[in-house]
Amino acid sequence: MTDHNLFSALRAAFPADLDATAIETADTAAPLFYTWRDIERSTAMLANLIDSLALPPASRIAVQTEKSVEALMLYLAVLRAGHVFLPLNTAYQAGEIEYFIGNAEPAMVVCAGKNFGWVSKIAFLAGTKHVFTLNDDRTGTLLDRAAFHGDTHTPAERGADDLAAVLYTSGTTGRSKGAMLTHGNLLSNAQVLHRAWGWRRPEEGGDVLIHALPIFHVHGLFVASHGALLAGAKMIWFARFDPRAVAARLPEATVFMGVPTLYVRLLGEPTLNRSACAHMRLFVSGSAPMLVETFDSWHQRTGHSILERYGMSETVMLTSNPYRPEGARRGGTVGPALPGVGVRVHDEQGRALPAGEIGGIEVRGPNVFKGYWRMPEKTKEEFTADGWFKTGDVGKIDADGYVTIVGRSKDLIITGGYNVYPAEIEGYVNELPGVAESAVVGVPHKDFGEAVVAVVVRKPGAVLDGAAVAAALKTQIANFKVPKQVFVVDELPRNAMGKVQKNLLRDQHKGLFGA
Ligand code: AMP
Repeated sequence: MTDHNLFSALRAAFPADLDATAIETADTAAPLFYTWRDIERSTAMLANLIDSLALPPASRIAVQTEKSVEALMLYLAVLRAGHVFLPLNTAYQAGEIEYFIGNAEPAMVVCAGKNFGWVSKIAFLAGTKHVFTLNDDRTGTLLDRAAFHGDTHTPAERGADDLAAVLYTSGTTGRSKGAMLTHGNLLSNAQVLHRAWGWRRPEEGGDVLIHALPIFHVHGLFVASHGALLAGAKMIWFARFDPRAVAARLPEATVFMGVPTLYVRLLGEPTLNRSACAHMRLFVSGSAPMLVETFDSWHQRTGHSILERYGMSETVMLTSNPYRPEGARRGGTVGPALPGVGVRVHDEQGRALPAGEIGGIEVRGPNVFKGYWRMPEKTKEEFTADGWFKTGDVGKIDADGYVTIVGRSKDLIITGGYNVYPAEIEGYVNELPGVAESAVVGVPHKDFGEAVVAVVVRKPGAVLDGAAVAAALKTQIANFKVPKQVFVVDELPRNAMGKVQKNLLRDQHKGLFGA
């Protein structure tokens, strides 16, 4: 068998100088320096520990720990040993962890020492045999045990179709589903992005990535980490995002990846300017829509156009604005399909829509996942008869192939029989003076089925009145699209990846119209 183990491919891309720094920590008491040789040795020790447990083939290894370099090593070691990595958001509480562990039946669980009591109880009850701890200060039983193992290890051979990871969808609506990603999905996507974004190996000038994203999610774990590892590029490693500290390290870096919220917070730093970014090559944004205003402000302040890309747990990356020329990056769009990825827009009857028309975004390619863990029926529902995955995102593709996302199909509001796309209304609301951002949702209405409701965040110092917002919209959009109620708030509820939790807003306002 040809080996398709993702770890082996990443390891083959390590630079010739194994004693060069691969990762430098930015927010530990003193900086820690990990060389490429350290990655090689510590992943070998952890993989040997995992091997010594003689787990069944393709065991899930569930991990809920704070972000640390050791947690990244654990991910790589799970791949190396040929098992399946299952990262869990650090914000998940007992009820959620119980669901994930019950659903995934991991053979091994790794958690923070402070959570061992309740996590191990859930895990042992669910039949998990091995529970280890890993803290963000390089302590815990996992590392204690790994220290007894040798530092050489032959990676397990894996096929391209073998599972590498199960990612539970971040679940802004409904119950989380485990997206099964293969070694082939992850490696092909990493290689496509390596070329598309012009990653530079040490002999080509050498990229330096500021890694400030969580590693329980596709953005930080796959896009950022694989990108740097495959380029043999150094990472400046932040366990937590701190805008001032990140801005201070920009002069040493060439690549930064963030969700839109991180860019907004960086713009709040007076030290963010052209000279701090003089050495930077690429700013990438994704995971949630970026406001055109943020895109424009960033360009004004730094001279750089943020490259926005679009992807999801089930598919890794799908589209990206062009790397070159930088002027071809269009704010408010997520760019054309990446090489090898098919993207199309269909209506609810499954008919192809012409350029510019809004419909459901469907995709296919070597990056598209194998299905939802133990949900064959759900998986079948989410694919078309001709094998395209229905993303659940609603959008359009223009004549140049640029994709614009308009919302989630579940967010679509149907009021009195008319379809309203929240993102369209949000676009108008955000243009009004004094508005920082907004979220538009549908809530039950006794006459119209659903009614449009807007929740608006005011700019600092601005005076905003909900009724005035609605009145201003009346002159611009069809009456059925005008929110029946506008609430002014200080901030929108967001999940860890910066996505607005519209389900919470819908819940909060569901009683408004007596339905
Ligand atoms: P997740 O699986 O948590 O990464 O969430 C994937 C979803 O995030 C996608 O289906 C989109 O709805 C949304 N998303 C990701 N990137 C973007 C983007 N650049 N603009 C708008 N929405 C995005």
